[in-house]
Amino acid sequence: MKLRLLPLAIVFAAFALTLGLGQCRKAEVAIPQRLSFSPIPSDLADSFSGENAYQHVANVVAFGPRPPASEGFEKTLQYLETTLASFGWQTTRQKLRAATPDGPTDFTNLIARHSTAAPHPESTPVLIGGHIDSKKLPFPFVGANDGGSSTGVLLEIARVLSSQPAAAAQIELVFFDGEEAFRPNITPSDGLYGSKYFAHDLSTRRSWPSIGIVLDIIGDPNFPLFYNPEAPPAFAEAVTDIATTLAFKNPVVLAPGPIIDDHVPLQNTGLPCLHLIGDFSQMTYWHQPGDTLDKVDADMLEKVGKLTLRFLSVIQSPESN
Ligand SMILES: [Zn+2]
Repeated sequence: MKLRLLPLAIVFAAFALTLGLGQCRKAEVAIPQRLSFSPIPSDLADSFSGENAYQHVANVVAFGPRPPASEGFEKTLQYLETTLASFGWQTTRQKLRAATPDGPTDFTNLIARHSTAAPHPESTPVLIGGHIDSKKLPFPFVGANDGGSSTGVLLEIARVLSSQPAAAAQIELVFFDGEEAFRPNITPSDGLYGSKYFAHDLSTRRSWPSIGIVLDIIGDPNFPLFYNPEAPPAFAEAVTDIATTLAFKNPVVLAPGPIIDDHVPLQNTGLPCLHLIGDFSQMTYWHQPGDTLDKVDADMLEKVGKLTLRFLSVIQSPESN
C-alpha cells in the first residue's frame, strides 16, 4: 500500500502545483473580454438624414485632395473634430509614422467616443469605421465617393446616436488615415496604414469590442453594395433582411470574393466585422478625376446610414471568446 500511496501523493502534489502555476500564468496573460452589446433603439435609424450626410461629404470634398499629411487632410481632421464635438463626442488624434513607397510618412487616425463612453484603454462594444484619406494621385483627386461618402455617413451617425447617450456610449467611431496605397494597389506593405496601427493598439487594450463595422465607397446608388464573405452568418442575414425593407436601387449582396480594406486588420484581431462597399470594379471613375460630388447621392447615404443603425438595433453580440 505504501508503495502505491507514495506515487499517488506525488502525483497529487504535482497536479496541485500544475493547477497553481496554471492560474498564475492565466493571470499574467489574461485574455480581455469582448464587451457584450445591447441593441440600440430601433427608431434611432428613422432620424438619420441623407441630406445631412451629403452636406458633410460636400464640405469635406471642398477641402480638396486629402492624402495623408496634406493641407486638405488637416482641414478634414479639424472639420471632423469640430463637428463631432458639437454632437457631444470627444476625439483623439492617433498619430503614427510608417514607411511607404514614397518614404516615411505621418498618418493620423481620428478616434471618437461619446462623452459618456469608457476611456481608452477600455473599448466600447462596437466599432464603426471608414477612411478619410483620398488616394495620392498625379492629378487632383477628391474621392467624393471613395473616402468622402463613408465620412459623411459616420458624422450623421454620430449626430443620431448623440440623442441616446446610452446607445452612443456603446460605440467608438474611427476615421482611418492611410487606407489608400501609394502605388496602384494595396499590398502587404502598402495601404491600410492607419487601420493596421489601430488594430495593433486595439489588441493591447484591457477590453475588446465584439462587433466591427467598416463602410467604404457607399454613396453611389447605381452599383450593388457588397458585404464581406467573412461576416458571421447572423450579420449577413440581418443585412440582407434590412436591405430588403430599405429598397435599395441595386441589390445588397455577398461580395464575390474577399476585399482588402480597413476591416481586414480588425478581423485579424479576431473581431467579427461587417464590411459594406460599393462595387468599385464597375465604377469607371474609381481612383480617377471623376470621383466627384455628383457621384454621391443623398438618398443612398440615407439608406446606408439607416442600414447601419438598424443593424445595430437587431444584432446580438457574437459568441464571446
Ligand atoms: Zn480608394
